Amino acid sequence: MIVAERKSIPELTGMLRDHNKVLVLGCGTCVTVCLAGGEREVSIIASALRIASKLEGLNLEVEELTIERQCDNVFIESAAEAVNRNDVVLSLGCGAGVQAIAERFNGKPVYAGLNTAFIGILEERGLWTEKCAACGSCVLHQYGGICPITRCAKHMLNGPCGGSREDRCEVRPDRPCGWQLIYQRLKNIGQLDRLNRIEPPRNWAASLSGGSRVIVREDHRI
Ligand code: SF4
Ligand code: SF4
Repeated sequence: MIVAERKSIPELTGMLRDHNKVLVLGCGTCVTVCLAGGEREVSIIASALRIASKLEGLNLEVEELTIERQCDNVFIESAAEAVNRNDVVLSLGCGAGVQAIAERFNGKPVYAGLNTAFIGILEERGLWTEKCAACGSCVLHQYGGICPITRCAKHMLNGPCGGSREDRCEVRPDRPCGWQLIYQRLKNIGQLDRLNRIEPPRNWAASLSGGSRVIVREDHRI
């Protein structure tokens, strides 16, 4: 899922300072699961904004709404009435959701209430970790299902770097060495011979380095 974090209330009141009626718009998918932008967080942020508005004399009227998915026009339409009766939308969707809302309501300011961080999973209660950098050309099969791009701090496809100590990454000692994990996993599944191969320099054109990406499915465009 996409993992995001809430912006601080002072940052949000700073954005909304010149507006009177704000719709705090949640998203019921990824950001609900990562406890950043679902119905519960909409309610918390809306309440905090009301209090901050009173304290700072901003006169903000705050409406709350959560839709199923902000990145999908099928669901965006259900927010139309609420969007139209407010001056501004504070979206608690991910970056894609915010932009989808802004595209649909092109005469309305739409602000991001979250910082979209990464594609990851809930590793343990209250701890989300990055697992995929959406590189556009997945090589997980070669590395035992552990992503060297995301989980090695140096993004090494021919690792390890040699700096790891006691299974910790030298760049991020609070995280395990990705290459230690790759080695152990390949050993467990009897595929250590994969490490004999030298991975050639990678073509990063399929990643964001090649500019904003598009996927076309001709079979769905008829
Ligand atoms: S190889 Fe690329 S697509 Fe696959 S998990 Fe890693 S970053 Fe994501
Ligand atoms: S210690 Fe491991 S994870 Fe960290 S940069 Fe080196 S090979 Fe990558």
